[in-house]
Amino acid sequence: MIIVMKLIATLDDVKRVVDKVKFLGFEPHITNDDERTLIRISGDDRQIDREQINILPNVEAVVPTLKPYKLVSREWHLTDTVVDVDGIKVGGKDVVVMAGPCSVENEEQLLTSAKIVREAGIKVLRGGAFKPRTSPYTFQGLGEEGLKILAKAKRETGLKIVTEVMDDADVNLVAEYADILQIGSRNMQNIKLLRAVSKIRKPVLLKRGFSATLTEFLMSAEYLLDGGNDQIILCERGIRTFVEYTRNTLDLNIIPAIKRLSHLPIIVDPSHGTGRYDFIIPMSRASIAAGADGLLVEMHPKPEDAISDGAQSLKPEKLFQLINDLKQIAAAVGRNLI
Ligand code: PEP
Ligand code: MN
Repeated sequence: MIIVMKLIATLDDVKRVVDKVKFLGFEPHITNDDERTLIRISGDDRQIDREQINILPNVEAVVPTLKPYKLVSREWHLTDTVVDVDGIKVGGKDVVVMAGPCSVENEEQLLTSAKIVREAGIKVLRGGAFKPRTSPYTFQGLGEEGLKILAKAKRETGLKIVTEVMDDADVNLVAEYADILQIGSRNMQNIKLLRAVSKIRKPVLLKRGFSATLTEFLMSAEYLLDGGNDQIILCERGIRTFVEYTRNTLDLNIIPAIKRLSHLPIIVDPSHGTGRYDFIIPMSRASIAAGADGLLVEMHPKPEDAISDGAQSLKPEKLFQLINDLKQIAAAVGRNLI
């Protein structure tokens, strides 16, 4: 970082900053241009809280020269990370679709969904057993029973399972059943959960908090890598804006932004991103055209009967249409839909 002193800063003010930098264990380098003093700190100074220096007398600005994240950054890892979900590669040439109902409701609903998903040629089944619902009065998920139903669907269809873990106490339990552990939007900054999931040797799907900036999103992924798990798939699922005709605003700008700043794969959830079944196909097409590595899509054998998120779930025939469309889009951008 570079500390810029005010024009009126005295030698004493400069000394105070220099002493503080040394006290923090770093080496300050002073330069005086025509007007003012600049103090550069060499080395990896990310752990310094800039405010500690900003509040010293006659400091004009503290300008970071390093990004706040390191492990997720492309600066340190030039090649794309390819997450290996038991043979299914996310982040390489393949575009990976994950689909299934919002919630595991019962065995029949989930097994029927799994068969439709497999028939569409999709390799990964989604379904929530632990549901982070906005209201305490709505369906909260089947918990472990839901995980067992997911395991049965896996045995019967060979599909890989992505399912959410909401609580650090459940991480080992969910990891027994899941091929990918999902961290939901509401928990993107649940640090205890991030730390616990970072210790698991399984891929993680980290969803963007609905009010999270790009930097905050990457900092949450940094927790996972810092804890030892580098198999991270990022997921854009829409953010809060003033737009009221969709549930959220799907921020597709983040795809090229993530690709530039990070080596991690990014997929898109157009169901939560729009809240509307009729927007899923167009926004899925746009996501893949923009460079997303895959999709997380809600589907339901009978959306009108769904216990949760029926309005943003595709009917089976629309899922088949989606896959058909995406094959062409993927090929047009040099990718391969699996
Ligand atoms: C989900 O995908 O099941 C879900 C709850 O989504 P989000 O965390 O993005 O709201
Ligand atoms: Mn849902």
